[in-house]
Amino acid sequence: MKSVEEFLVYAARLEQEAALRFDELADVAASFANTEVATFFRQMAYFSRLHLEEARKRGGFHDLPEINPGQFQWPDAESPEAAAIWGANPHMDVHQAMAVALDAEQRGLAFYADVLAQSDDPEIKAMAREFVEEEAEHVAAIQRWIARLAA
Ligand code: ZN
Repeated sequence: MKSVEEFLVYAARLEQEAALRFDELADVAASFANTEVATFFRQMAYFSRLHLEEARKRGGFHDLPEINPGQFQWPDAESPEAAAIWGANPHMDVHQAMAVALDAEQRGLAFYADVLAQSDDPEIKAMAREFVEEEAEHVAAIQRWIARLAA
């Protein structure tokens, strides 16, 4: 990350995609009539939108800066959260949906942790640390659900 703004563009994009995918997972959960899980995924979508808003405000962008996909340099070809959630298909069961969500959040966490480790800009590090903490909470929340569903 070369600048705070660049970091915020990535963060905003990542959270935007996470919000969309959690909405998809919520729709899937609603289709197999698991209201609690659907509600949980909606909450996760809501938190992702809060993050998106925060990144947008801090970056001072009114709209998300347009960056053409080729210019984004994610560790993988796609943004971490979107890549993992691509598998959201209407036939998955609740366990598969949770596994997909967990994978996505772990990749998001890894992305922010990587920025935190690689950057030596104190402002970028401070923001990356906040995102790391929040993503770690998301991972823990999903793991609690997985344990609960397995019980
Ligand atoms: Zn998250």
